[in-house]
Amino acid sequence: MKVLCILYDDPKGGMPSEYPLNSIPKLEKYPDGMTLPNPESIDFTPGELLGCVSGELGLRKFLEDNGHTLVVTSDKDGDNCTADKELLDADIVISQPFWPYYLTRERIEKAKNLKMAITAGIGSDHVDLQAAMDNNVDVVEVTYCNSISVSEHQVMMILALVRDYHNQYAIVRSGGWNIADAVSRSYDVEGMHIGTVAAGRIGLSVLRKMKPFDVNLHYFDRHRLPKSVESELNLTFHESVESMVAVCDVVTVNCPLHPETEDLFNENLISKMKKGAYLVNTARGKICNRDAVAQALESGQLSGYAGDVWFPQPAPNDHVWRNMPNHGMTPHTSGTSLSAQARYAAGTREILECFFDNRPIRTPYLIVQNGQLAGMGAHSYSEGSATEGSEEAAEYKK
Ligand code: NDP
Repeated sequence: MKVLCILYDDPKGGMPSEYPLNSIPKLEKYPDGMTLPNPESIDFTPGELLGCVSGELGLRKFLEDNGHTLVVTSDKDGDNCTADKELLDADIVISQPFWPYYLTRERIEKAKNLKMAITAGIGSDHVDLQAAMDNNVDVVEVTYCNSISVSEHQVMMILALVRDYHNQYAIVRSGGWNIADAVSRSYDVEGMHIGTVAAGRIGLSVLRKMKPFDVNLHYFDRHRLPKSVESELNLTFHESVESMVAVCDVVTVNCPLHPETEDLFNENLISKMKKGAYLVNTARGKICNRDAVAQALESGQLSGYAGDVWFPQPAPNDHVWRNMPNHGMTPHTSGTSLSAQARYAAGTREILECFFDNRPIRTPYLIVQNGQLAGMGAHSYSEGSATEGSEEAAEYKK
């Protein structure tokens, strides 16, 4: 079979000859007891770069030893990109949310052999799920592989925004020492009201991690958490997102992007937030309206915005979020730490082994199967597509 793998570019200076740490911690299980990816074997060293082109997710030996063809490219956008040409006869496509190959309906319909789209990570909104269902293409992702990585990034961002870390760091880098400038937007999070839209794996982990900061915790979700968790964390549940954002100093976004959540934080919802609140979004860029966020930072309705997700990706060089005031954006990195890469590379290998051996893929990994939403997909996504506008990614110039 032909496997097409779209990965982000190698480091500009080439692959590292050494890494800061000699090894990464070996985890026994995920916080809810779910087992980590368990492929029969791996051909990579955990802790090394795997998500870039030369890293190949550690898959080449395994695939070629088993008689398959592996094509790896980062050239994924614009007319005549390599990925589009290779897609025509590919059986399996692997893509990462950090450098997403947008599998639009048009692309899916051209890929006559396509059987499965694997997300090496979490979040399959870069695939037109409706078109996948209509064309009998299965969609799977590596559930939980980087949820904790993202929650760590989010806690970092909440603290960085509220304490105004970026401004203080910039003062030091420029040789300055003006303390008044450094602290005129700096607060403690202690005592603040912090809320998450969705309390799934990431959202709940953020709540748990923020608890020791002595804050008041809130959440909104379609399903309620167990009573024991609500009382352990002293959570306030909100029946609507509007009710939650009205009382929170910090709001974090942790739901998947699907037609129901696209453009959720538009001008209207942002205007219902507490004046001067902070918004942190590591879920998906399209959940927050691009211009509404920038305008709210200009007006002071928002005091800060941070996250690592954009739409499209890569974000065009002139994307307004790159230069709006008081932002703490990173490129899409939270779920692709070296630690996370080892887990999703192993998860991708597990999925491929199951597929080639005709064994069932774990239910929590399933998004679309046999023409319908399945597994996690049936629980967390809705039918339809959230890929519209993705062609703008071609505007990014390296
Ligand atoms: P989970 O599936 O564990 O959690 C998703 C939660 O979102 C569920 O609790 C689900 O609710 C809830 N949800 C779905 N739709 C809505 C809605 N309309 N309103 C409110 N809540 C909703 O996934 P994770 O926590 O692991 O990941 C969440 C998202 O984070 C991913 O889908 C992905 O987009 C993003 N992500 C980003 C990464 C990054 O690198 N920045 C990496 C990993 C994930 P319920 O189950 O009750 O239906």
